[in-house]
Amino acid sequence: MTERCHVLIIGAGVNGLGVANRLANAGVHDIVVLEKKYPMYGGSGRNGGGVRAQWASLSNLELARDSIPMWKRFASEIGLHTWFRQSGYLMLASDEDTLSEMKKRARFQRAHGIPTHVVGVQEAASLAPAVDMSPFIGGSYCPEDAIIFPWPVVNGLRERVEEHGIDVRSRTPVTGIETEGDRIVRVKTPKGMLAPEWVVNAAGAWSSEIARMANVSIPATPIRHQIFVTEALKPMLDPMVVDMRTGLYVNQDGRGELVSGLSDREPMKKVTTSSSFEFLARISRQLVDLIPTLGPVHAMRQWAGCYDTSPDHVPNLGPHPELSNFLQLNGFSGHGFMISPRVTEITAKLILGEPVRVDLSRYAVDRFEKGTQDPERMVIG
Ligand SMILES: Cc1cc2nc3c(=O)[nH]c(=O)nc-3n(C[C@H](O)[C@H](O)[C@H](O)COP(=O)(O)OP(=O)(O)OC[C@H]3O[C@@H](n4cnc5c(N)ncnc54)[C@H](O)[C@@H]3O)c2cc1C
Repeated sequence: MTERCHVLIIGAGVNGLGVANRLANAGVHDIVVLEKKYPMYGGSGRNGGGVRAQWASLSNLELARDSIPMWKRFASEIGLHTWFRQSGYLMLASDEDTLSEMKKRARFQRAHGIPTHVVGVQEAASLAPAVDMSPFIGGSYCPEDAIIFPWPVVNGLRERVEEHGIDVRSRTPVTGIETEGDRIVRVKTPKGMLAPEWVVNAAGAWSSEIARMANVSIPATPIRHQIFVTEALKPMLDPMVVDMRTGLYVNQDGRGELVSGLSDREPMKKVTTSSSFEFLARISRQLVDLIPTLGPVHAMRQWAGCYDTSPDHVPNLGPHPELSNFLQLNGFSGHGFMISPRVTEITAKLILGEPVRVDLSRYAVDRFEKGTQDPERMVIG
């Protein structure tokens, strides 16, 4: 028996569930969400909750800027506390080239409504007194950048979607995809076959695997990113601090723990969720270098997940050029949580046939062949 449905969403992370929630709010309930493990297994349950509008490309800047007010409303919409806190991102430069780039980007961001300003070492020290400022010559600061706790967001979305009667099927992997002409016609799982009108590829770091099942490719590769958490400390750090020399970022969460992360240097052949001692040693050294008082502090835990990284660090959105009913919602390159409100809105509108008010050519899978890409240069982590 083949089961029919209007929309089949692959992946129950913040983006898959986010699209389901938006469609349900618009009255579309004939939706199935397939999840190979459980809703927080992917990046959505493993990320650092960083939300920033300090981007260098218009493609990322617009998605992030438009998402921030949506995040502000989200807790009351979903009825759950998300610990959303706008305490800013302070990005620190140690050389003139980086600082002059920051000046250029701050002008660009202000021109697009984002209140970033360049700070000298003194202002940086007053924003983050725990940081050893001796290697730095200044930085950029945006007070509207924020932190959110991902778990209540994903749990809240799942509850909402299920209240609408939408079936979120955990432990149900997609194992095969059949196409006819320029459409996906059937999707296989070990529990049966589905025939959807639309398929949304929201499988995070596994999105390329899903595309391969449909005999097409997408620009996204898994890159491991690992997170390190200290024991709880007295309040010592208000903004998220980013050391632009290394890409290390650190913030203090509501419990007082410092949360910090770094990416591997090389892409992975396969998605992994295992963390490494090499990372623990590397990040401990870099953190103590940045905040010397952390020397005697204990590490509490560490974990890993994979970014689904595109060559330009810009997400893949919209229909696949070879399969008109196969919508991409991936390639998030380590920032797919923060831009989720806007990218899920765009995807839902595409399914509803409503105008999206965005230049989709910048996010199209074939942007590299067509020369419509707008690459990101403000990559951290
Ligand atoms: C350690 C780490 C730190 C990060 N920090 C940040 C941050 O600070 N800010 C930020 O914005 N972003 C961050 N990110 C990125 C962010 O977490 C992701 O971009 C975002 O969560 C992606 O959500 P998603 O719903 O698209 O995919 P995911 O949450 O990855 O969900 C995809 C789901 O698809 C499922 N799936 C895979 N294959 C199949 C299949 N065959 N069939 C069915 N289901 C399948 C998976 O099990 C998974 O649950 C971080 C990521 C990591 C790993």
